[in-house]
Amino acid sequence: MNFYLGIDFGTSGARAVVVDEQGCIQAEGRFPFEKSEVSELANSWQKALFSLLEGIPQELRREIRAIAINGTSSTVLLCDAAGKPVDTPLLYNDARGAVVIEELRSIAPANHTVLSATSSLTKLMWMSQLPSFAQAKYFLHQADWLAFLLHGQLGITDYHNALKLGYDVEELKYPKWLENLKIKIHLPRVVTPGTPIAELRAEIADQFEFRRDSMVCAGTTDSIAAFLASGAKLPGEAVTSLGSTLVLKLLSDTRVEDSRYGIYSHRFGDLWLTGGASNTGGAVLQQFFTKAELESLSCEIDSSKVSELDYYPLLKAGERFPINDSNLLPRLEPRPTSNVEFLHGLLESIARIEARGYELLQELGAERLTQVYTAGGGAVNPTWTAIRERILQVPMVQSVNMEAAYGTALLAMRGVG
Ligand code: ADP
Repeated sequence: MNFYLGIDFGTSGARAVVVDEQGCIQAEGRFPFEKSEVSELANSWQKALFSLLEGIPQELRREIRAIAINGTSSTVLLCDAAGKPVDTPLLYNDARGAVVIEELRSIAPANHTVLSATSSLTKLMWMSQLPSFAQAKYFLHQADWLAFLLHGQLGITDYHNALKLGYDVEELKYPKWLENLKIKIHLPRVVTPGTPIAELRAEIADQFEFRRDSMVCAGTTDSIAAFLASGAKLPGEAVTSLGSTLVLKLLSDTRVEDSRYGIYSHRFGDLWLTGGASNTGGAVLQQFFTKAELESLSCEIDSSKVSELDYYPLLKAGERFPINDSNLLPRLEPRPTSNVEFLHGLLESIARIEARGYELLQELGAERLTQVYTAGGGAVNPTWTAIRERILQVPMVQSVNMEAAYGTALLAMRGVG
């Protein structure tokens, strides 16, 4: 038998999923991150990776044909010539690079995706001013470094991770303007996600009793891995993530970019994965209700009835997509005495923002929306799904799977054909 291993390094933990050739799950493992010292971050990732490998049932390990890893987008680190981190990695949400944005603005084209405090390129510029930079040879993303631990090749990434480093995913090359940065570092060679890179290092294969010819493939980012897991694959198919925030992703034949709304597109084979992220979402629901209340109150909502309550649920002022207004105030009034009615108004208002988001993507040139898969904590709420179906007027379809690790296992399988 041939099995395929996907490993997801997410925000709160790492997960592993082993699938067979039919995409059926054969084994799963979890490694929750503990609060570790920042200086121990890279070590703790390595520990998580090896502990996940160890946790795979022994009889499956010998049958694993390919492995891929996804990391959180824009989590990056600098390594020396041997691949040893020269300083602590910078996490996806680390915004200390804000101080170099003005300098970057003079180099990168106006409104480019890299012009954000948390982009990989901003982080590289910020790190290049630290004393530890003198020992740095390679700049890597989290997924690249973890894959290096398995295959031993330094300086390789995929074009999903490389987007926020400024890599031109249309031309498939680093743009000319990047040369003006004058940072002395090896930028990673960029390959298609899933590309076979090299066999598992012999020591690792022997230590964990994997087969020696297990192929380690190029990875991706966590959110693209979750998209892959859903099963969406045709233009017009979308995945809405109802997590703490509301994130839309729509597959399209055409690339859509609009920095005013934070809209950008990832290359997705011959298609484009276009999307935007709103500040509304589950975090606002959580402000008013517990998980148990969300479940019980939702059961009492008549999803076929239109709620007259017109909210714009936000935790604080400011929105980017689908309305670009940094001063937009949360609108959560009037609050009815009935909690069922209040929640109905909230769920329906978020669904309207979702619908407006897809409308905006289509106005800017994306494919016509045909069906929507759902991921994230809100995906389990059938009342919300019914409300969304009424408002979006397209079928809501069940995701094949919602785990990024599952999507990454599929990437490994496709990578080796
Ligand atoms: P994150 O984006 O932080 O990874 P998750 O995908 O885990 O978030 O989703 C968590 C969110 O899901 C919470 O903010 C919560 O409000 C929401 N949520 C959980 N259960 C329900 C439910 N039954 N109905 C609607 N929303 C829910």
